[in-house]
Amino acid sequence: MASLVSFQSLAYIAAALLFILALAGLSKQSTARRGNILGACGMALALLATVAVAASGAGNTAPVIGLVLVALLIGAGLGLWRAKSVQMTQMPELVAMLHSFVGAAAVLVGWNSFITQPGGALPDAAENAFHLGEVGLAVFIGAVTLTGSVIAYLKLSGKMGGKPLMLPGRNWINLAAVLACIGLIAWLVNTTGMMGAVPLLIITIISLALGLHLVAAIGGGDMPVVVSMLNSYSGWAAAMAGFTLGNDLLIITGALVGSSGAYLSYIMCKGMNRSFISVILGGFGDGAKAAGAGAGAQEGAAPQEGDYTEINAEEVAAMLRASKSVVVAPGYGMATAQAQFAVADLVRKLADQKVDVKFGIHPVAGRMPGHMNVLLAEAKVPYSMVYEMDEINDDFAEVDTVLVIGANDTVNPSAETDASSPIAGMPVLRVWEAKDVVVFKRNMGSTGYSGVANPLFYNDNTRMLLGDAKASLEAILAAL
Ligand code: NDP
Repeated sequence: MASLVSFQSLAYIAAALLFILALAGLSKQSTARRGNILGACGMALALLATVAVAASGAGNTAPVIGLVLVALLIGAGLGLWRAKSVQMTQMPELVAMLHSFVGAAAVLVGWNSFITQPGGALPDAAENAFHLGEVGLAVFIGAVTLTGSVIAYLKLSGKMGGKPLMLPGRNWINLAAVLACIGLIAWLVNTTGMMGAVPLLIITIISLALGLHLVAAIGGGDMPVVVSMLNSYSGWAAAMAGFTLGNDLLIITGALVGSSGAYLSYIMCKGMNRSFISVILGGFGDGAKAAGAGAGAQEGAAPQEGDYTEINAEEVAAMLRASKSVVVAPGYGMATAQAQFAVADLVRKLADQKVDVKFGIHPVAGRMPGHMNVLLAEAKVPYSMVYEMDEINDDFAEVDTVLVIGANDTVNPSAETDASSPIAGMPVLRVWEAKDVVVFKRNMGSTGYSGVANPLFYNDNTRMLLGDAKASLEAILAAL
C-alpha cells in the first residue's frame, strides 16, 4: 500500500508537470498540438494513479475498478462523439457547456463529502470546521459556475438574446447573495450531523440563482470576457473539489485553470478596453443602439442607411493581382462559412505570386478566445503570416488591399469615432486606412454580434462582396 501511495505521489507530480508544460505549449500556435497531447497524457496518468490507489484501498477491488471503467467508457464515448460531431461554429457554446459540468461536479463532490462526513464526523473540531468550510465554498463556486455557464451556453448558441437583464438594484442583489452565502457558510461550519444540510441547501439555491443573474446581466458585447471568466471559475471550483476530496493534483490542476482563466479574462478585457469590474457589474451592451444586441438578434437589427458599392469576384481577383500587399481580417463569418480552407488556398496562391500577405487577428474575433487562430491552424496557414492586432494595426496605411472576411464588430470604426456607441473605446483593426477594403458578408440587413451598425461598409474605399464567404472565395480563386 505504501509503495502504491508513493507511486501516486510521483504520478501526481509528473501529471502536474505535464499540465504546466501543456499550458506553456498552448500559448503558441506552433506548439499547441504538442501542448494538447501533453495535457492528455497528464490526465491519463492522473486517472490511472487515482484509480489504482482508490481500488487498492477498497477491500474487494473488482467492483471499484468495474464501476470506474464503466464511468470512464461512458464519459470517453460521449466526449469522442461530441468532439467528432460538433461544428467549429458550435465550439464556443460547447466550451461553455463543459464549464458547467465542472461546476456541477464541484456541487456533487461537495454534497457527497458532506453526506459521508457531516459536522462532527472527524475526530478534531478544527478539522471538522475546515472540512465544512471547504464543502460550503465548493458548493458555492460550483453552483455559480454551473448556472452561469448554462446561461453563457444559451447566449452563445443564440437560444437566448444577448441583451443584458437589468433588474433594479442588480449589484445590491449580487452583493446580498454573496454576503448571505458567507453567513450561511459560517452557520454550516458550526453545525453537527445532518443539521448542516439546511444551510448547505440554502447556499446551493442562492448560488445557483446568483450564477444565473450574474451572467444574464452581462450584455452580448462582453461575452468574450464571460467565457474566459467562467473558465477561471471552473478551475477554482475544481480546486475546491480537490480540497474536499483531499486530492492534491485536483487542487493544482484547478489552480492552474483558475489562474490561467483569470489571465485570459485580463487579456480579453484589454482587447475590448474594458475593466474587469465593469464587466462583472454587467449592463454593457444595453441602450437604444444595442437594443437588438446579441447572437439571437443579428438578423433583425437595423443597419445604417447609406450608399455602398458592390463588387464581384472577378473584380476582386483583378484588385488582388494588382496589389503588392494584402491583409486578411477574418471574423465570425469565416467560421460560419467554414471558409478557412478557401482562405488558406487564396493566400497560398497570392504568396506564390510574390504578394506580401498577412492575417490581422483581433483578440475577440469569432466567438471564443483564439477562435480564428484555431481555424487558421486547421487550414495549415503558416504561423509566420498570422499577426495579432497590436502587431499590425499601425501598418494598414501601407496596405493595398484588406479582405474583411466575415468580420464586423472587430473592424467597426465607430468604436473610435462615436463616443456614444456601445462598443466605444474597444480597440478595432483599423482596416479603413488601407487603400482598398473588400468586405465579405451575406447581406446588408444584418449586423455583427453587438448589434451595432458599421459605417465602414459605406466608405469610399470599401467594396461589398455579398454572398457566402466560402463561395465568394472559391469564385475569386477560380478567377485568379
Ligand atoms: P461579428 O459577429 O461582429 O460579425 C460577423 C460577420 O460575419 C457579419 O458581418 C456577418 O454578416 C458575417 N457572416 C456571417 N456568416 C457569414 C457567411 N457565411 N459568409 C460571409 N459572411 C458571413 O464578428 P467579429 O468576429 O468581427 O466580432 C466578434 C464579436 O463576437 C464581437 O462583438 C465579440 O465581442 C463577440 N464575441 C466574441 C467572443 C470571443 O471570445 N471571441 C465570445 C462571444 C462574443 P452577414 O450575416 O450579413 O453574413
